[in-house]
Amino acid sequence: MLDQQPPHQQAGNRQPGQVFDLVIIGGGINGCGIARDAAGRGWRVLLCEQNDLASGTSSASTKLIHGGLRYLEHYEFRLVREALLERETLWGIAPHIVWPLRFVLPYHRKLRPRWLLRLGLFLYDHIGGRKRLPPTRSVDLATDPTGTPLKPEFKRGFEYSDCWVEDSRLVVLNALAAQELGAIVLTRTRCLSAEHDQNVWNVTIRDEAGGAVSIVRARALVNAAGPWVDAVARSVTRTNERAPVRLVQGSHIVVPRLYEHDCCYIFQNADKRIFFVIPYEQDFTLIGTTDRDYDGDPGEVHASQDEIDYLCRSASDYLRQPVTRDQVVWTYSGLRPLYAGDGEDPGGAAQSATRDYVLKLIVEPQTPALLSIFGGKITTYRKLAEAALGQLQPHLPKPTGRAAGWTASVPLPGGDFPREGYDAEVAQAVARYPFLSHRHLRRLVRAYGTRIHELVGNAGSMAALGGRYGGDLTDAELRYLVAREWVRTAGDALWRRSKLGLRVSPGEVEAIEHVVRQSVAALPPVPAAAR
Ligand code: FAD
Repeated sequence: MLDQQPPHQQAGNRQPGQVFDLVIIGGGINGCGIARDAAGRGWRVLLCEQNDLASGTSSASTKLIHGGLRYLEHYEFRLVREALLERETLWGIAPHIVWPLRFVLPYHRKLRPRWLLRLGLFLYDHIGGRKRLPPTRSVDLATDPTGTPLKPEFKRGFEYSDCWVEDSRLVVLNALAAQELGAIVLTRTRCLSAEHDQNVWNVTIRDEAGGAVSIVRARALVNAAGPWVDAVARSVTRTNERAPVRLVQGSHIVVPRLYEHDCCYIFQNADKRIFFVIPYEQDFTLIGTTDRDYDGDPGEVHASQDEIDYLCRSASDYLRQPVTRDQVVWTYSGLRPLYAGDGEDPGGAAQSATRDYVLKLIVEPQTPALLSIFGGKITTYRKLAEAALGQLQPHLPKPTGRAAGWTASVPLPGGDFPREGYDAEVAQAVARYPFLSHRHLRRLVRAYGTRIHELVGNAGSMAALGGRYGGDLTDAELRYLVAREWVRTAGDALWRRSKLGLRVSPGEVEAIEHVVRQSVAALPPVPAAAR
């Protein structure tokens, strides 16, 4: 069933004294996206992540692959066009974790005029190479089912397309793809510092689980530490100068499902902000986000009571049934590591700061290259990776693998669906595993795509998958996640590889933790010489 080399053992393939072409600090979407692209081009890559993959901003997004309608108001046409183009590309390479959504934008007579909304959506439909996604239409909210949950004063609106993404799974699939192309991915491994010795970086890393400290060597270093970009930059360059980053907090709340239909809403607030209300994990609704400057420890960010109240109040301005604080079953919060250098107004409103990415390359004589990443969107991670490698290429050996741009057409792990797509894949799984419920199979195909067969293998009954918990999580799935997807705690499995944390009881969490610990202990040992 698990026939390839597991990540744990693969970490042991590091050769003492080996020089990597790239060492990447940070296992969020940007670090993992660069790792996959670089490994595919034939460069030798090592990525270290201090915690779990996607444990920073990349699991705390609104989870939209979108052009960002709002950015048109800030004339960010380059970003919007690139992001719009990425929607269908990412849907194509990851049809299990990316899928189309329809958004309803009600016209509010005291806010943006109708002609402006129409113009914005016209541009949105036409500047981004839309081929498969359906176009914008006007909606009569008095008669359309999407009007039913809204207050009666909202009579007209527009409906347009964007896509959903399972953000933290996108990160893990990029890491998995990178690893299958030869990259070494070390989680729970923190970069402590880096010094250069002529043209090579000596990067000091620490295994956070065992405490072992080692040095890895690299021709170029990528600082993809997201909200920690400043801390990492200082430990590498050893200056007291602050990196040009502005941390902007965004929080979300999750409540039990608020309405029946499948469309999302994009609502405007009087403060000019917009926020989303999105059907979530079948039985829930996701509401977010906020925008406010943050200057604490990035590891401690959490949704404040003020933010929760703001989101409840804002949603209640539009919905017939008010949303109240006691309905909130879960919250999460993340930090946008936005660029705050040239051309940006550090005192301007947080929601107006650019969401575009900025890459800063430092190359000095007798010094290996250092590239730092600021800003960006989940949506544009693939283009960011291409731009990053474009800047680094002159400082790396001639690539021996695929040509630049390859990541646009090669499916991510599990995304190699038959032409008929997701429903055909589910139908095949139903025929092959008649003992699994339809709901269970749909969840597994969404999460693992064609790799569902590695997880279920030759099991012929539910009992063969071992213990069973809320949301149809089984021991077999946990063992798969430990062996293949770097899961080391119950939290990794319940909040980043899935959202089954919404469905398991506290008692089950303990049992899951136990199974994860046992599965980790059963992994083959890493050869001491290669640690
Ligand atoms: P992170 O995901 O934070 O990754 C950085 C990683 O570096 C972390 O995992 C951290 O643990 C690790 N690290 C730090 N220091 C070290 C060290 N010393 N050693 C080793 N590892 C280290 N984008 C969209 O496209 N669509 C959306 O809907 C969307 N919504 C958003 C909503 C919110 C509220 C926020 C905050 C952002 C949103 N974004 C969205 C933007 C997107 O989420 C981010 O741009 C993206 O996730 C940033 O990824 P990253 O890899 O740069 O950072």
